[in-house]
Amino acid sequence: MMSDLLNLSQISPVKPLLGRTRWVMGNWKMNPLTVQDAVMLAQGCQQRYAQCVETYPQCRVGIAPGPLHLVSVAQALGHLPMDLIAQDVACHSMATGAFTGDISAPQLHAAGVRWVLVGHSERRLVHGEHSSVLEAKLQAAIRAGLGVILCVGEQLHERENGQAQVVVLAQLAAHLSSLQALSTAQVLIAYEPVWAIGTGETASPGDANVMHGIIRDYLTVQVPHLSQVSILYGGSVKADNAAALAACTDIDGVLVGGAALESGTFGPIIEAFATAMV
Ligand code: PEP
Repeated sequence: MMSDLLNLSQISPVKPLLGRTRWVMGNWKMNPLTVQDAVMLAQGCQQRYAQCVETYPQCRVGIAPGPLHLVSVAQALGHLPMDLIAQDVACHSMATGAFTGDISAPQLHAAGVRWVLVGHSERRLVHGEHSSVLEAKLQAAIRAGLGVILCVGEQLHERENGQAQVVVLAQLAAHLSSLQALSTAQVLIAYEPVWAIGTGETASPGDANVMHGIIRDYLTVQVPHLSQVSILYGGSVKADNAAALAACTDIDGVLVGGAALESGTFGPIIEAFATAMV
């Protein structure tokens, strides 16, 4: 599906990773139903990660439980090495106050959260979050000491109209001044073509790699100190396509939805990215 837009001859030849960290991040969205199930899932993921982390320390794993489950999951995991991710954050910098329904960035930080997703397509499209709101969330997260996973990606009609690259780069450009103030330890980019999220339709590894290269080239010019930022792919990543994605030179990790909801399907994805280092 993607090859109509991007020139596959642009795929860069195999080159060293230059020491970029590998990331396997699970986005649980509004799952599972109960706190107990969330804790069991987290423990299962932790076990799979523990089997890899000593041998492959340059592969890191994170999970993004829903807000109702975050604290129980954090408590259950203790000080083990998985990163806790929040799926959303309030769009202001107040730590506490009269903001019904909000969870502030300082509250997330105090609960042990390390990263927050900003710009996921479900927030952009279902909740109508535009770049000004996303920028406020990004700023609030950074001020509280959280890292940001900035999600970008085009919709199907944009891809079919040949707009994929323009859309993705515009989504990055909307946060350029913030990105210029961040280090590679504070931000990850997740490229998630909307048409591949939860659909079973995956960008081919080569095509995803091309878009990652475009993103990296853009950042290298606009924000040179982020030229080695880790860029994750998201969109129907499964155990059976993870190794091919992990073998791509510009794909530094994955943001996984459906397959992150069972340790039996998340585990092989962790292993694919961990072992791709060698
Ligand atoms: C996501 O929600 O970020 C995602 C990539 O979902 P899935 O893996 O289910 O396509």
